[in-house]
Formats: sequence, C-alpha cells, structure tokens
Amino acid sequence: MTYFQFKKYIKDSLEEVVGEYAAYEAEKIICHLTGLSRTALSLRSREEMPETPKETENIIARRQNGEPLAYILGKTDFFGLELYVSEACLTPRADTEVIVERALEFLGERNAEVLDICTGSGCIALAIAANSHATVLGVDISAAALAVAEKNAKKCALWGKVRFLQRDALAADFLDGEKYDLIVSNPPYIPTADIAALSAEVHREPMLALDGGADGLVFYRRFLEILPKHLKSGGAMIFEIGYDQEAALRTLCEEAGLPCEIFRDYGGNVRGAVIKV
Ligand code: GLN
Repeated sequence: MTYFQFKKYIKDSLEEVVGEYAAYEAEKIICHLTGLSRTALSLRSREEMPETPKETENIIARRQNGEPLAYILGKTDFFGLELYVSEACLTPRADTEVIVERALEFLGERNAEVLDICTGSGCIALAIAANSHATVLGVDISAAALAVAEKNAKKCALWGKVRFLQRDALAADFLDGEKYDLIVSNPPYIPTADIAALSAEVHREPMLALDGGADGLVFYRRFLEILPKHLKSGGAMIFEIGYDQEAALRTLCEEAGLPCEIFRDYGGNVRGAVIKV
C-alpha cells in the first residue's frame, strides 16, 4: 500500500464520524504513526509503505467511537505549540487562539504579569508566554490538569516564564493581594442543562471544564466581582465566552460598571470579551 492509499483508507474510515475533517485527521494520524512530518508525508505519497503500523486499527476504532483525536494521539497543536493533552483537561480548540491574539495585542512589548484562570492544559498561558515578554501564572482547581500544564511548560521550554498553582476560582480565598496587568480565562461556560445535548466527543472531556452552572455565567459573575481589584491601573481582563453569551456579558458588565468589547473568532462566531478597568 502506498502512503496515499493508506491516507485514503484512514480518511474513508473516519468520514462518517468526523465529516470534513477526515482528510486532515488522517494526515495527523499517519504523521503520528510514522514519525514523518506533513511535508515528508506529502513528498512520499506514491511510495510503498514498509508495513501498515500495528496501532492503525486501534486508533481508527477509538476515533470512530467518538474519542477526541487529541486524547488518542496524546497531543495537539495550539498557537504553534505542540502540547500534551489527556482526559484531565479540555482539548485546546483552534477557536480559542483569538483569545491569545487579543492578549498579545494588549500586552505589546511590555514586561507584564498575567494571570490565566482555569488554565487546564496551560494552552493560553503558554501561548502568551511564548509570544510576549510577560510572565504568566496559570491556576486551576484540578491537580490532574495542572500536571498536564506543567509537563507542557517543560516540553515548550517555558518553565520560568510560566508557573502554575492549584486554586479554586470560586473559593473565598482564591487570590491573595497580587495585581496583574492582564487576567485571561477560558472558564467553564456551558449551562448545566445544555451539557446533555453536546456531541459524544465533548462528553469525553471533563465536565468540570465545561459546566458553567445553571445559566453558564457563574464564573463571569464571580470574575467581575473580584478581579477588578487584582488589576494594575490600565489593566484588562479577556475572557472566552459562548457564541450566544454576548447579551448576557454586556448586561453583567453594565451592572458592574465596566466597559466591555465583544469580539468574534475566525468562524465569525462571538468568542470573547475584553473588559478594561
Ligand atoms: N468551547 C467549548 C465547547 O464548545 C466550551 C469551553 C468552555 O466551557 N470553556 O465545548
């Protein structure tokens, strides 16, 4: 079988489950199985493969069964970084990259201090640290997620620019007296009652990272109440929000007396809010 035929075989096997992403995922799987880069794979497409990798059928079956590709491969790309991921954390989404873009735009060339709340795999914290002069503290309630984030900091050689601490954002003693230039967060924001209707794939991810309480806004309410006093003057907060949460966020910010700018992702959906104090 040639590499091209192998790719077609995997693509056809996945099409029903992942639709338009089948070709992309087939390529990722082959690179993982063979150790080839995407370019090397493309250049060899008409060559015969030495043998069909043993893991192939197992990977296809797991993916057909709705397991996220990132969990199967144990890694994913986010903002140009290759990150470890496991069932302990949400898989980093490409849509979340706009949060990092906004953060970098805000930070510019400053030696800033940044706090990332609900850091999970550490993806936002690490992408900011890798692309700015900032030092970043990532916090999360989950020790298992923090273990992944720490592993990622070492893998990306960012240890020192980033550190992680276990903190419950909803607990009374969440933060001491520290102040930050920028606070970012992609908190759980799915309303509890909507979780049942999410795809099988999302159901493989930790509910702790998705469930935003009855109306999905528990974290934003808390953030707007306690975070302004943890910002340096001229500081800002940037949060990922759900595609249908624009009006709710605007209302919460209005009630808190804070200006709020909503922005969209590259799919055209509402994705985040910038709140300056
Ligand atoms: N964007 C995620 C999803 O669609 C939700 C992430 C979150 O709750 N922070 O599943």
